[in-house]
Amino acid sequence: MARIVVLGAGFAGLWAAIGAARKRDEIGANGDIEIRLIDRNAYHNIRVRNYEADLGEVALPLGQLLDPIGVSHGIGEVEAIDPARREISLVTSSGKETLRYDRLVLALGSEVMRPDIPGLAAHAFDVDTYAAALRLEDHLVSLGRSAPSPGRSTVIVVGAGFTGIEVAAEMPDRLARAGITGSRRIILVDPNPAVGASIGAHARPVIETALAALDIETRLGVRVASIEAAGIRLNSGESIPTQSVIWCAGMRASRLATSFPGGRDRLGRLLVDPLMRVADVGGVFAAGDVASSVIDGLHPTVMSCQFARPMGRFAGHNVVADLAGLPMLPLRIDWYVTVLDLGAWGALYTEGWDREVRNAGQAAKATKETINRKRIYPPLSGRKDELFAAAAPTVQAPPPTYGARSR
Ligand SMILES: Cc1cc2nc3c(=O)[nH]c(=O)nc-3n(C[C@H](O)[C@H](O)[C@H](O)COP(=O)(O)OP(=O)(O)OC[C@H]3O[C@@H](n4cnc5c(N)ncnc54)[C@H](O)[C@@H]3O)c2cc1C
Repeated sequence: MARIVVLGAGFAGLWAAIGAARKRDEIGANGDIEIRLIDRNAYHNIRVRNYEADLGEVALPLGQLLDPIGVSHGIGEVEAIDPARREISLVTSSGKETLRYDRLVLALGSEVMRPDIPGLAAHAFDVDTYAAALRLEDHLVSLGRSAPSPGRSTVIVVGAGFTGIEVAAEMPDRLARAGITGSRRIILVDPNPAVGASIGAHARPVIETALAALDIETRLGVRVASIEAAGIRLNSGESIPTQSVIWCAGMRASRLATSFPGGRDRLGRLLVDPLMRVADVGGVFAAGDVASSVIDGLHPTVMSCQFARPMGRFAGHNVVADLAGLPMLPLRIDWYVTVLDLGAWGALYTEGWDREVRNAGQAAKATKETINRKRIYPPLSGRKDELFAAAAPTVQAPPPTYGARSR
């Protein structure tokens, strides 16, 4: 029996596994092809929701999604990949293991960069993973039970890109929920001279308006010099008492992308063709944040679930087609939107690669909530037909508001 291994159960990996099972079923090869998914966790994390206070529905058990379609799954830490031998080295609860593959889908995602800043590893929080998000939530709850102090009611968010802005904008409500009211401070720190430098000039005025309305301060053009349990020091010389530093500065593809000889971009992503194949190596497909594909003939994909999910579906379809000697399908997406949560103020909805503002405030918030709570969820019914329908190698239509011009 031939074996397809999918590494990673995020937005790309989950959909690659379901997409592969769908194609396997379609060609009647269920007895000929084994599909095995490996992740360090036994759940699919709706990672884009890790900044929210309510983490009740952001870790979906893999068994519920994969058992009904005959995809086996294991928990293990991927330590190394040897593409010449087609072998993966894993550490599982029973020790070291080697897993052989005939075809591989690499979907190990990305992680927030943690530079070597004194105190960062020991004292900073983040929302990169479900475990990290739970740790932050527990911390805020326990702060709420402690004696008032300036450090207790000050939150520093480092990185004023998509994630940092969403974390900061949510923080007034999260502090209030934790019982931290009164003279609280939320400060967004970034080395760039403006917030949302990577988001662009069209969006910036909306973001600035929202941050001002939420009473969020900024420290721009500065870097973090050190972090301690009771405070942070900036390279401007300013020291701020705080017990809560949340690190959201910069993403990088999984280090395991370096296992392959093909080219990589400045984020460490493997370059893949429209079929999601990794260049210069046989039998390997990659999807999601670990891969970069020129998606509309011009623009490389952005690390986002908007691209990770279709990249996964197409990689899953193509890996089975490749194994069976059938035609593969190229992925092309001609639309790009961003929807940035801005807490109680609302949200920001942009279209196009210049991120032109199409909607903002509560109307955009409704779109954001639909995306975060419905659109990106797999069917939870456990029904094979629903899972396979959702994993078809097609491109989803843009959100319903696409093309609206309410601002
Ligand atoms: C707080 C936050 C908010 C975001 N908001 C948005 C948004 O609004 N819109 C948007 O489009 N994108 C958003 N993103 C980005 C989005 O989450 C990513 O682009 C998306 O998760 C990429 O999917 P992926 O499958 O490639 O990687 P991931 O979802 O990261 O999945 C990778 C999987 O691989 C596993 N893994 C990694 N390394 C190993 C290893 N060595 N061994 C075993 N398992 C491993 C992980 O456990 C994980 O399950 C946000 C990200 C964060 C953190």
